[in-house]
Amino acid sequence: MPSDGDSRVGYEAMGAGGWIGVHWPERLGGRDLTPLHTAAAEERFGYHWLPLSGYLLSVKTIGNALLRLASPALQERLIPPIATGQLIFCQGFSEPGAGSDLASLTTRAERQGNTFVVSGHKIWTSSAQLADWIYLAVRTDPDAKRPQDGISVLVADMRTPGIDVQPFATLGGGQLCEVFLDDVEIPVDQLVGELHGGWRVLMATLDYERVTSEKVGILLRVLDELEPLVENPADRLTLLRLRGEAEASRLHGRRATQLLEAGAPASAAASMAKLSCAVLAQRLADEGIRMLGPAGLTERGHGDRVHGRLAALARAAVGATISGGSAEIQRRVIARRGLECPA
Ligand SMILES: Cc1cc2nc3c(=O)[nH]c(=O)nc-3n(C[C@H](O)[C@H](O)[C@H](O)COP(=O)(O)OP(=O)(O)OC[C@H]3O[C@@H](n4cnc5c(N)ncnc54)[C@H](O)[C@@H]3O)c2cc1C
Repeated sequence: MPSDGDSRVGYEAMGAGGWIGVHWPERLGGRDLTPLHTAAAEERFGYHWLPLSGYLLSVKTIGNALLRLASPALQERLIPPIATGQLIFCQGFSEPGAGSDLASLTTRAERQGNTFVVSGHKIWTSSAQLADWIYLAVRTDPDAKRPQDGISVLVADMRTPGIDVQPFATLGGGQLCEVFLDDVEIPVDQLVGELHGGWRVLMATLDYERVTSEKVGILLRVLDELEPLVENPADRLTLLRLRGEAEASRLHGRRATQLLEAGAPASAAASMAKLSCAVLAQRLADEGIRMLGPAGLTERGHGDRVHGRLAALARAAVGATISGGSAEIQRRVIARRGLECPA
């Protein structure tokens, strides 16, 4: 999505302006407001198409997860610099052989005294090329009966010897990275949650990631710019329907936000928010380009009628039903945890 663009300058400006961690405790650099205030602010960030990748990882996803699951000492160390816009996280979950089936991840962490020694290969890591720290899913117990019972989550400074980042360009216009870990020594006090209890940490972290208020803002902006250009009554009706779906997606996101705040099971609601927004992004891009014709595909220069937003949306929306868990995986989560269908 367009919001996935990277900008350290933009992130620092958000921190300096007090827009990071709006609902976090004041003693850790927040403003003590509510998660719904944050969701409303994130929708506006998206509406203005800010480059948000660093924010979405460091604040919306990992920052919120650390506040729920990390030790007080880790929170005190990491949350204040996130809140001031000085610390960007990336998220190292996916591997070449472990995406949807995250439980099969093979990056190994062996305990040696007061450190974990970590080796492995992460892929599709957003913002790793500018991140200060990484939030890493590793295998700490290769002999666990169920693969998900042998996983832990660690955080590490990206300057730690043995971490190598290789960026590559994406269709959406930004960059993704491969991260190679070779005997990386990570202190044991940088464990998030319990040893071998990482699966619970990963699932909770993904719940935060899947509340996509900022993407609702992006889509509302495109609708606002498209509507005055469309006269055909059938097309206008289509746009009204899409606006209604954006409103529904916004409400899914708010419901998930409230469930997360209450500490209630939120996975199904978060997946509904994520899936509805991702599918809508693709439909809006397709319908808008159909309505405007070639002008809808122009990103800049002559003929551009929506500031290049439709074309950018069309490119970036391809990944929207893959990142954060594919559409099929979201449907699975909704079926299992929302509708209680058997596995
Ligand atoms: C823009 C973008 C940014 C990303 N950023 C990050 C990041 O910062 N950190 C990170 O760790 N990862 C990141 N990812 C990776 C993302 O999480 C994975 O791509 C995603 O989980 C899918 O995994 P995979 O690519 O290995 O595909 P696979 O898991 O191999 O899936 C291939 C296809 O099979 C389908 N499939 C798989 N299993 C099932 C099943 N059980 N039932 C039905 N269908 C199934 C999938 O839906 C998909 O269509 C990013 C991806 C993208 C596109």
